[in-house]
Amino acid sequence: MALTSTDDEHDPEGQTTAVDRSRTEALLAGAERRLEDLDAAELRLEEGTYGVCEVCGRRIPLARLEVRPTARTCVDHAA
Ligand SMILES: [Zn+2]
Repeated sequence: MALTSTDDEHDPEGQTTAVDRSRTEALLAGAERRLEDLDAAELRLEEGTYGVCEVCGRRIPLARLEVRPTARTCVDHAA
């Protein structure tokens, strides 16, 4: 059996050029929000407040930061 999975330019479905505009715009909006979150996280790193809940001041569990590195609150105070 021949391996043809890398031959993307000859997609038999013929749908690869059809772009769903609204979905693309939603993805872009999400990316911009993430960039803002990353900027904010970087600022907190510089201030020394990264990983501290903004509501109760307790340290955010490392497990949560691993899943959501830009988290500003602990699980109890997550919006
Ligand atoms: Zn909290």
